[in-house]
Amino acid sequence: MNLLDGKATAAQMKQEIAQSVLEIKNSGKRTPHLAAILVGNDGASETYVNSKEKDCHEVGMSSTVLRFPETITEAELLQEVVKINNNKDIDGLIVQLPLPKHINEQKIIETINPDKDVDGFHPLNVGHMVTGLPTYVSATPDGIMELLARYKVETAGKHCVVIGRSNIVGRPMSNLLSQKANPGDCTVTICHSRTKDLKAFCLQADIIIAALGKAEFLTADMVREGAVVVDVGITRVPAQNKSGFKLLGDVKFDEVAPKCSYITPVPGGVGPMTRVSLLKNTLKAARGLR
Ligand code: NAD
Repeated sequence: MNLLDGKATAAQMKQEIAQSVLEIKNSGKRTPHLAAILVGNDGASETYVNSKEKDCHEVGMSSTVLRFPETITEAELLQEVVKINNNKDIDGLIVQLPLPKHINEQKIIETINPDKDVDGFHPLNVGHMVTGLPTYVSATPDGIMELLARYKVETAGKHCVVIGRSNIVGRPMSNLLSQKANPGDCTVTICHSRTKDLKAFCLQADIIIAALGKAEFLTADMVREGAVVVDVGITRVPAQNKSGFKLLGDVKFDEVAPKCSYITPVPGGVGPMTRVSLLKNTLKAARGLR
């Protein structure tokens, strides 16, 4: 069994990105700059945005967090997005989701200038991704593809089962792995909550991407010998430690890992790769290379 070590890979990538940022600055150009919009006081969103800000500083990028109260109207938030679209000092913009119920998330996403949409959620960027055109691929699928590439995991001709069909993970993963590319060239089956006999599909898989958000769902009896397993899930469960919780993936790691050729741990697998992919997209934006 080989560990797909997202923590170590992301650390290596951060060094590479920091070097590129330094080169940009040394050439006299402006420091790459990521802006994040945060609405309300959701604890998890606050944590995510803080870690994105910390990541930016670690690689020498600038970051700005624009905080707005829960009561901001949709029209006001749209205006703020337009302001950042027009701000030449900002390369990338992310709007931390979820937004309060009275705001139409899709409308906000579609207002972001696609050239600054480093989350890759704008339909134009999604369309580019689907058709294999240059784009910002959203952070989690991009991070997984990078991890597979860096570990030279063989994907061509393999049968990949993706569990989950969300727009941010399952659906783009299934698309990227089916493309004529490396990694890619897989035969992909996408499974979801209405799939009948999921176990039978999993047992036919060379590669399983588990992205359903159910702690330790994938057990050893669902995985065949030699499979590659990528665990996207993150579920917080109470624990007797300092923080009072621990993170569990969608895979029952201890029993599945011995059967795998490669597997990602949780934590330390897909999570750090997701974070570094946002930096990668911001660097791309700063270079004008969507
Ligand atoms: P989601 O809730 O939007 O989608 C879950 C998907 O799983 C749905 O398509 C649903 O049909 C499917 N599903 C649910 N129960 C199922 C079952 N019993 N059998 C088969 N399919 C089932 O979730 P999401 O946003 O795609 O996230 C999935 C998980 O990944 C969550 O735990 C989330 O926290 C985690 N996540 C992690 C990262 C990271 O950086 N590591 C990033 C994004 C999401």
